[in-house]
Amino acid sequence: MPSRDDAATRDAGDVLRRFRRRFVIADDDLIYLDGNSLGRLPRSTRARLRKVINEEWGGDLIRGWDGWIELARAAGDVLATGVLDARPGEVVVSDSTSVNLFKLAAAALDAQPGRTVIVTDDDNFPTDLYVLAGLASARGCELRVVKTDIDAGVSVDGVAAALDHDTALVSLSHVAYRSGAVADMPAITAAAHDSGAFVLWDLSHSAGSVPVPLRAAAADLAVGCTYKHLNAGPGAPAFLYVREDLQPRLRQPIWGWFGQRDQFEMAPSYDPVDGIERFLVGTPSVLGLSAVLEGARLTAEAGIGPVSAKARALTSYAVELADAWLAPLGFALASPRDPARRGAHVSLHHPQAWQACQALKDARVIPDFRTPDRLRLGFAPLYTRFVDVYDALARLRDIVASGSHVAYPAGRSRVT
Ligand SMILES: *Cc1c(COP(=O)(O)O)cnc(C)c1O
Repeated sequence: MPSRDDAATRDAGDVLRRFRRRFVIADDDLIYLDGNSLGRLPRSTRARLRKVINEEWGGDLIRGWDGWIELARAAGDVLATGVLDARPGEVVVSDSTSVNLFKLAAAALDAQPGRTVIVTDDDNFPTDLYVLAGLASARGCELRVVKTDIDAGVSVDGVAAALDHDTALVSLSHVAYRSGAVADMPAITAAAHDSGAFVLWDLSHSAGSVPVPLRAAAADLAVGCTYKHLNAGPGAPAFLYVREDLQPRLRQPIWGWFGQRDQFEMAPSYDPVDGIERFLVGTPSVLGLSAVLEGARLTAEAGIGPVSAKARALTSYAVELADAWLAPLGFALASPRDPARRGAHVSLHHPQAWQACQALKDARVIPDFRTPDRLRLGFAPLYTRFVDVYDALARLRDIVASGSHVAYPAGRSRVT
């Protein structure tokens, strides 16, 4: 029988235990299982933003740019070396994930004018599908959409079967947003390279939850969010990665002055700078970039090895409890059973998942709901405790066993 004492013992042995105190936790009884949608606020970020507002913006005014101009690259270097398996100078922070995806996908198409196919899969995140469809439509390209099992995740064979010598680009999520399934980055990248295509990975649910083997896989391009497991705050700017040897060959389609060689020469014609900054566009949000730098530093300090090991332990514990308590109530695991194939979240299928989600929020547990009928539970490794997993699943069990969730509306609200 699972016991709360056992959960507490697991917490006592957790090497990342001290990191919970590094976050602002206004209400210790609220169980937050949505750090994969919006991470918590790090204390160091709150302090840094106060300083940026009061001293730098408030005091330095325009002189602040002497330091701010370095932030996009500085945050990128912390991500490259401390969070992703990349080299300094291969990652920079700018724009949103959607915009970066557009920039890099367009750059990849432009670099291979004879190839006219983009390959993705139907379980990719909606913004990725929309951006790729829009780009394919504008360029007269074909968007080839591989069918993927939404619980098992994209397969190497499925992608390989869609590749041919017309394929310019393969664009996929590394960790699936709904199931948490991890794609085989090295094998899929190798298959794409065999057919001469570039690969563009979306790391939104990977960065800060699992190792991202960009270098080991010789990945070409990647983008990702910073407001999820990197805890940089709502709408914080995203990152992009371009492998060093590709940088001189690629040009992104939005020719802005932040990508210009000697920006303040104010030259009339565009000449992109060498290096990763050529993928920048315009003036960044300095508050957002400051928060990305702090969030990335915190994950880098913890180390992606311990972070991913704890993610596996937390998700495995949740699966164990779900098997014992929730399977008899009609729940089924909608994520891979193999912990090595999961990110830091798991989904549970239940016909009344949306109603259970609303009832759980009233019971002071915050999960989220994903269509068609998945309750998604995110276990951000830096601040989620094993007792949180225990308490959350016990509350879910009690709600569904009593049937109290069916009193909640069956129709979805605007944000789930
Ligand atoms: C969250 C998420 C996004 C979000 O993109 P934005 O441009 O920040 O809205 C994109 N892709 C994936 C895979 C995501 O999980």
